[in-house]
Amino acid sequence: MTRLLLVEDEERLVTSLVDGLRTAQIDVTAVGTGREGLELAKSGDFDVMVLDIGLPDQEGFTVLRKLRATGSDLPVIILTARTSAEDVVRGLERGADDYMPKPFSFAELLARIRLRERRIGAADPATAVIEAGRCVLDPMTRTLEVNGEQVSLSNREFQLAHLLMSHAGQTVTRAEALEHVWGSASRDNVLDVYIRYLRSRMGASAIKTIRGEGYQFLG
Ligand code: CA
Repeated sequence: MTRLLLVEDEERLVTSLVDGLRTAQIDVTAVGTGREGLELAKSGDFDVMVLDIGLPDQEGFTVLRKLRATGSDLPVIILTARTSAEDVVRGLERGADDYMPKPFSFAELLARIRLRERRIGAADPATAVIEAGRCVLDPMTRTLEVNGEQVSLSNREFQLAHLLMSHAGQTVTRAEALEHVWGSASRDNVLDVYIRYLRSRMGASAIKTIRGEGYQFLG
């Protein structure tokens, strides 16, 4: 899931954007000042930042300049009520990746965010190949290699394998697995069936059952 940092001080706009973005399966964190925005942007916990220019404590341009000075290449989309060409140029010169003149349509902003997601796709953990033990999982082709032998996976098998392998050595709870793969915790028995499928492909010892908790990928 894309993690988006929204730095915007207009509460009504924040409320509607957060609602819309969450509906679009984007994990949003919203703050209203440049100082908080810069701190969070530097944390490396986000995939994209949507940054307002007119903030109460400092200009978005300043936030952007300080962020780039730290060497961060976090994709930044600027929101600005100022539509003069000069402002746009200033934003792009200071390292913005894109800009949205206010007022804008939500659909247009979402399209620009999606475009950033695709550009960052190569470095995205969601598409990175995972190697753990005897297993290699390739998200781009949705294939699993076990001891060098290729196994193709259904969509849900892949999602479950990806979740377990990206947390190799850690316990993934049943609730987390159900929520991640099926979007709800209500289909409890289906999980056991899929764990059996994966064990039959990866080897029975690859996935350990942690009684009363969940599963651990051992490789
Ligand atoms: Ca503002």
